[in-house]
Amino acid sequence: MRGKTDNGRRWYQEIEPELAYVLVREGAAVVVNRHTIRRLYSNKEFRLLILTRDNYTCRFCGKYGDTIDHELPRAKGGHTTPVNCICACYECNQLKANRDVDEFIRAMD
Ligand SMILES: [Zn+2]
Repeated sequence: MRGKTDNGRRWYQEIEPELAYVLVREGAAVVVNRHTIRRLYSNKEFRLLILTRDNYTCRFCGKYGDTIDHELPRAKGGHTTPVNCICACYECNQLKANRDVDEFIRAMD
């Protein structure tokens, strides 16, 4: 996989084919050729993409949010892709930690 860092430097990293497949399927990367995919966003661009898509609104409580949360936590196999990432406020992000969304919503009841 290859891409650019926030300051425009190029990077290259070997990744598992399964991960490459998920990143492409979930809109985080595009296929360059049989052996290479390219990540579409630097970390900064990605953050901005998610926050503007969700209007800086926390997906859990509806208040202003400016942090990114993984819907399926990374610890449970979730990846940093537009499909798996949502806008969250700081409080909800802290509360949620590594629980998945269903567990989190149940815990709020
Ligand atoms: Zn919130």
